[in-house]
Amino acid sequence: MSSGASEADAHADVASGLAVPLPVVHKPKVSFCQACGNPTKEVVPDGEEKVRAVCTVCGSIHYENPKMVVGCLVEHNEKILLCKRKIEPSYGLWTLPAGYLEIGESAAEGAVRETLEEACAEVEIVSPFAQLDIPLIGQSYIIFQARLKTPHFSPGPESLECALFALDDIPFDSLAFSSVIVALKMYIEDKNDGNLKFHYCTINKRKGMANHKLKSEPVPPDVLAHQHSRKFC
Ligand SMILES: [Zn+2]
Repeated sequence: MSSGASEADAHADVASGLAVPLPVVHKPKVSFCQACGNPTKEVVPDGEEKVRAVCTVCGSIHYENPKMVVGCLVEHNEKILLCKRKIEPSYGLWTLPAGYLEIGESAAEGAVRETLEEACAEVEIVSPFAQLDIPLIGQSYIIFQARLKTPHFSPGPESLECALFALDDIPFDSLAFSSVIVALKMYIEDKNDGNLKFHYCTINKRKGMANHKLKSEPVPPDVLAHQHSRKFC
């Protein structure tokens, strides 16, 4: 992942043990109008309920919507390819190759591109594996199961290191993002069951909820909500 907000932004300060997630109150981040360059102000436009960034000169309303993050769970010889991040957030932690989907590409194409960029690995998509929504930070992940076309990989400019990990050796104590923890746990459970499935779930991150809460077995049900899994057909 190259830029913009990330899961790490949500690891802020307020500890919370609530079982029910607090409502997400989004504060507009657009300070200057993308149409005319003048400053915006925070306004609830007529007929709407949410605060938006509205241009003080031309009146343009700047809607901010969730971002799609796409990535690959790359299998090779019963191992999974991980990348150690060379960029913030989560510098030095391990992640699946993933990043923001670009306009003009499909989710699968974006996942393949990110894997090439971060791990210099050419992969082919096997199947969609999981969609993980994280409402607090406005991100939705689509993770694909993929395999190496050739047994070659090396760190791209955003990675310190790339390596294949056996499922028993995945470094859960130094994974970068909750989405990566959840995806890898679901994958390991499926492999242990001998039954790979497609998973859709919501990760109810809360401000102050560090990733260590996700490392307990299993992922707490108040964190991993609305989970649906279906066998590949
Ligand atoms: Zn304007």
